[in-house]
Amino acid sequence: MNTKSLQEFDPEIFGMIQRESARQTDKIELIASENFVSPAVLSAAGSVMTNKYAEGYPGKRYYGGCEFVDEAENLARDRAKELFGCEHVNVQPHSGSQANMAVYFSCLETGDKVMGLDLSHGGHLTHGHPINFTGKLFDFVSYQVEKEDEVIDYDKLIAQACKVKPKLIVAGASAYPRKLNFKRFREAADACGALLMVDIAHIAGLVAVGLHESPIPYADYVTTTTHKTLRGPRGGMIMCKEEFAADIDRTVMPGIQGGPLMHIIAAKAVAFKEALEPKFAEYQRQILANAQALAEALVGHGQKLVSGGTDTHVMLLSLLNASVSGKKIEKALDRAGITANKNTVPFDTRKPFVTSGVRLGTPAVTTRGMGEGEMREIASMINDIVNDVASGSDKTNDGAVNANVAERVKALCRRFPLLTSTTQTASLAQ
Ligand SMILES: *Cc1c(COP(=O)(O)O)cnc(C)c1O
Repeated sequence: MNTKSLQEFDPEIFGMIQRESARQTDKIELIASENFVSPAVLSAAGSVMTNKYAEGYPGKRYYGGCEFVDEAENLARDRAKELFGCEHVNVQPHSGSQANMAVYFSCLETGDKVMGLDLSHGGHLTHGHPINFTGKLFDFVSYQVEKEDEVIDYDKLIAQACKVKPKLIVAGASAYPRKLNFKRFREAADACGALLMVDIAHIAGLVAVGLHESPIPYADYVTTTTHKTLRGPRGGMIMCKEEFAADIDRTVMPGIQGGPLMHIIAAKAVAFKEALEPKFAEYQRQILANAQALAEALVGHGQKLVSGGTDTHVMLLSLLNASVSGKKIEKALDRAGITANKNTVPFDTRKPFVTSGVRLGTPAVTTRGMGEGEMREIASMINDIVNDVASGSDKTNDGAVNANVAERVKALCRRFPLLTSTTQTASLAQ
């Protein structure tokens, strides 16, 4: 076996990881679905549990030598149950998409009717987009937000459910800045005899500490990722009522996956332990305070936000009536060291690869320790860039505004060092 260090054996990959680490340290991360894990989560994710095959579930594996990974998976399950108060949990899905796939395959037949939020209104690819497996295998009918206030009208949703008669209703979103009303979703499901799945991939951290209502009492299935506001390793998870437990477990393995990623399950357990600490609730409160500060400052500068603001960690800068697209702003922000993603907005008139929106989120900058003052500074930077590009002055002033923002980004990042990446760089150098 190769016993050289990564640096010695593969300087190319070593260099790439170092440059990625520096990018994370030196730029302002506003991608709403990203976060920075702790050194403890990173250690578990990079551990020797990656070597172990453990198809099956604790106590019922198809392989020997599972005594320690069994302990890790049991601990992950116990902590997840404590965190979310669910009856049953499966921590094996490799990603949020696979968690959703497992729920669909456990309760639907090919061609069944399902309702999910339109992708361009904030939904996720796995909520029925035509180019995704969900749109290809099932008969998805999408619901949308209202044109006037850009939020879901629940009376309309219930009426639509009664007309469509889906077997499953999917609630949850990737770019919906407002709180979701799970009680009303349950009413919609009950009105047409459908099952209800709630996908809390984005808001799991807020739900865990009670800052967003929990869907557990209302939903038949709750899916999530573990790497967004929950701040764990990249992965997925399914929570469900006891009556669906055996079906869900069977559908995850052998239905759609083979061996679980035991190192990632161990890292999930560590992240859940972190999330059970009082400090984590404080962190989630600061995510919301920061989102409020960022949204209010942007609106104060005259920028438009979808639905006028946010009550979560995420917001959408709307460029629907602006001369400049989301794609252009994403590029200009990136040049200045601010990382965000272009995103369609409801009733977008531009193409999905161009878009009329930019999605902004506060989980990652909050992990760095930034507060409301820094959010106002970031809003001012974003405003300067949008105005610069929209007015075309970025061409006449030779990128002076962009260069000025880049300097401010550097200064801000220096004031808030990122602990995980220095740890990672140090451990790589060993
Ligand atoms: C991110 C996300 C997912 C999928 O997560 P992956 O781990 O990227 O597959 C699913 N649903 C929603 C609502 C999401 O935001």
